[in-house]
Amino acid sequence: MTLLECGSLTPFWSVELRQGTFNLGYDPEIPLGMTPSNPLALIAELTHRCPLHCVYCSNPLELQARRDELSTEAWSRVLREAASVGVLQADFTGGEPLARPDLVDLVRAARAAGLYVSLITSGMPLDEARLDALVEAGLDHIQLSFQGAREEAGNEISGTKAHAQKLRVLEWLRKRRVAVTLNFVIHRHNIDQIEEMLALAESSSTTRVEFANVQYYGWAFANREQLLPTRAQLDRSLEVLKRTEERLRGKIRVEFIAPDYYAKYPKACMGGWGRKLMLIAPNGDALPCHAARVIPSLTFENVRNCSLPEIWESSDAFQKFRGEEWMQEPCRSCDRRALDFGGCRCQALLLAGDAAATDPVCSLSPLRPKVDAILAGVNASAPTEIASRPDWLYRPNPA
Ligand code: SF4
Ligand code: SF4
Repeated sequence: MTLLECGSLTPFWSVELRQGTFNLGYDPEIPLGMTPSNPLALIAELTHRCPLHCVYCSNPLELQARRDELSTEAWSRVLREAASVGVLQADFTGGEPLARPDLVDLVRAARAAGLYVSLITSGMPLDEARLDALVEAGLDHIQLSFQGAREEAGNEISGTKAHAQKLRVLEWLRKRRVAVTLNFVIHRHNIDQIEEMLALAESSSTTRVEFANVQYYGWAFANREQLLPTRAQLDRSLEVLKRTEERLRGKIRVEFIAPDYYAKYPKACMGGWGRKLMLIAPNGDALPCHAARVIPSLTFENVRNCSLPEIWESSDAFQKFRGEEWMQEPCRSCDRRALDFGGCRCQALLLAGDAAATDPVCSLSPLRPKVDAILAGVNASAPTEIASRPDWLYRPNPA
């Protein structure tokens, strides 16, 4: 078992046990002061449209409309440019990428460019014929997300009746030649279901399971106090996973992505700012991470006007927090700065009001007491039944 942490999207970060990894299966180290020559993965946010309305969605609060989305041709060019600068993997995500009618064409374009193609999906809307078409077009990997092991809680969190469809997709995947990851987004109202989630995984064809605790950006930040698990819940979940480690060894790789509010040190967010990943928003804006729009001082170049290599090498947004010149104390003189890069810039903005501050989840941050106060509030009350928490802020759909 590996202890990691993550948002509802693709990047996987670590707390304490492992830092700065991504799901390419390897993690090439790049010295802090060195600008990496190329991104390794392209996160393609094809659309912000989604049939689900998850209360922890990491999409921005201001969702982009369908009319602003890049065309098939523009995405195909971006994928070719990505491959030409050394990107190895395209992660199709959203919103729900299946909402794009041209998804099969985009998978084919990514594969033709020589990229490993991964689809991060809720499984809606999908039928067997379209799944076959995606696999035929060259899809290598599907990450299927579940809101929990039980239908009622999953439907409540997603604001949609989605659980039954996910089970159908899981069954269809059993017969397809495509790698499968099951992703469970973990929070206060489902963390006690981890044994049932593991049973679901064991009954399927998956070889990898992620228990990804919610990361607090976007809609999750707005619903934070209702989503953070208690310390006791977190400890129990780790005990469950420890007990199953031997049984699953060699069959299913389990990754537990911890809530970094409980961590001693922050995550190496995105493997370091502008070091390994590029995210392209539905309208073509290029971002160093999915939450970067919360930082008001940043401006983003758009792939309609700029090539991917230009953006990677010289755009303001990608340059802003590369290296260590921007760091403040205690990060500037800390031995861990080449491991976690001072944590998450967006979290620093959200919690400290300063994107260049030490991530306040770090125990060395002068603002760590603010995080401790949030956790004290969360731990003061026992988790309640989900049905008694009707005051969610659901993620809507863009026009
Ligand atoms: S609403 Fe849910 S399924 Fe849709 S993009 Fe957000 S987290 Fe993913
Ligand atoms: S002080 Fe900065 S570099 Fe050191 S552990 Fe905390 S966040 Fe990381």
